[in-house]
Amino acid sequence: MRDFSNHATVRPADHDIAITDIETCVVEGNFEWNLVKVHTDAGVTGIGEAYRGGGIDELIAYTKRFLVGENPLDVERLFRRIVQEMSGHGGTTGKVVTAASGIEIALWDLAGKVYGLPVYQLLGSKYRDRIRIYCDCHAGEAYAVDDGFTEYAGDDAYQPEAYAETAAEVVNSGFTAIKFDLDMPSDIEPDPYNGRLDNAAIERKREIVAAVRDAVGDDVDLAFDCHWDYSVESGKRLARALEPYDIMWLEDVVPPEETSAQRELARSTSTPLATGENRFRVHELSELLYEHAVDIVTPDPTTCGGLAESKRIADRAEENYIPMSPHNVCSPVGTIACVHLCAAIPNADVLEYHALEVDWWDDLLVRGGPLIADGHIEVPTEPGLGIELDEDVVEEHTLGDDVGFSS
Ligand SMILES: [Mg+2]
Repeated sequence: MRDFSNHATVRPADHDIAITDIETCVVEGNFEWNLVKVHTDAGVTGIGEAYRGGGIDELIAYTKRFLVGENPLDVERLFRRIVQEMSGHGGTTGKVVTAASGIEIALWDLAGKVYGLPVYQLLGSKYRDRIRIYCDCHAGEAYAVDDGFTEYAGDDAYQPEAYAETAAEVVNSGFTAIKFDLDMPSDIEPDPYNGRLDNAAIERKREIVAAVRDAVGDDVDLAFDCHWDYSVESGKRLARALEPYDIMWLEDVVPPEETSAQRELARSTSTPLATGENRFRVHELSELLYEHAVDIVTPDPTTCGGLAESKRIADRAEENYIPMSPHNVCSPVGTIACVHLCAAIPNADVLEYHALEVDWWDDLLVRGGPLIADGHIEVPTEPGLGIELDEDVVEEHTLGDDVGFSS
């Protein structure tokens, strides 16, 4: 058996360091943000974030049995070690890869601090100084999130005018790219299971897209998310109905597992399609790219395997002339990790921001001003991720009875 614990031993003395502990903290924002800290005997600590979801902190804690004592500078070897050590219990995909993503990001932060280099430089290059952000928006007054699920007030709260009003507000605040959800409760009538959109449902969505386009003009990039709801034939009809509005992309139209269905949809329309946020590791995204079943690929670096794995996905996308726009619903920690990735890959486009309703979002970091300015985030140039957590804010918003990080 290949043994990823069997590492090379010759290194400079100041790089001969070891992991001493790994801590986690779940911060309750609009989603549950899984933060992770990796401590070392060199007195340097790395910070990372894994995608939301239950059990991630327990999986991260499990890895301590083989990561404590390891050299944290072997970032990619340790990612492979986690996948291999846990391959018999789901390690090649899903939540184990999500947990490994958070650890991997913390290891890059740690390695950058040890080497005195920003993470983008460790990843190979800096293509841009600031990253354009797209803002995920929600229309209607009754929007609420409970454990990541959207609660709707009924169709009346989601008239096209409500979308247009929100779109204008968000664009006026500086964003040049925005996204709305386009799946609605009425979509499940008359049948909640078959994924079919009737003509009235498609017409309602077309009216929403038309109203948003009209409100913000032609120069704002618009994306719309369908959350994997529809059948291939309804997806085709919807995508075709939206063709006149030149949107940036239509996201996750059909369920996520089946590349051939996605490819069939892509062949049927000139509306650009995006997908990828719930696929793991390069293995689950390659076919989408080589088959040109997607126009903009949207993996989530905090889910799919971390920054190096996301770069491997970006490489395959670039090889096929496909841009990458990372999915991101993270706290500022995971967001800044994505910012470094977007700085380091040639084919990065807009990065998601999904916390408009959390007014303390960037208070989680010690900083001089708002993290997002003019719809962009500046790429930090300090070593590692170039961020410092405000531990008081972390403690204030820790989920459950715990306060702050614990191992
Ligand atoms: Mg989405």
